Amino acid sequence: MAACIFCKIIRGEIPSMKIFESEKTLAFLDIGPLSRGHSLVIPKFHGAKLHDIPDDQLSEVLSVAKKIAIAQGVEDYNILQNNGRIAHQVVDHVHFHMIPKPNETEGLGIGWPTK
Ligand code: IMP
Repeated sequence: MAACIFCKIIRGEIPSMKIFESEKTLAFLDIGPLSRGHSLVIPKFHGAKLHDIPDDQLSEVLSVAKKIAIAQGVEDYNILQNNGRIAHQVVDHVHFHMIPKPNETEGLGIGWPTK
């Protein structure tokens, strides 16, 4: 979709910190992280809400979110997916948040620079 910001990231038209890419799936760091390593995993197929995406286009998404958490070495994290404004969805391209919940000794993996 031409105007969709996440489709622009998929096409490389705006910069992102990509951490995984396959034929169907892309993962990149959230630009407004709630914690270090906060990542977004998206199907490349454009759809605003979960029910707009065919099952076969979603098949990798949770697996990628899991692998990113493992790669970051975080044990505690939230997987979050919002649908619709009342549910706090801001970007109308389906995305799954992987939000690390680091303790004092972990969560030092990849993340946007803080300085
Ligand atoms: P939502 O509330 O579930 O729709 O979350 C949208 C997320 O997209 C927010 O956490 C934003 O920080 C993030 N976001 C918006 N624009 C960009 C971008 O250009 N790059 C990376 N993350 C973005």
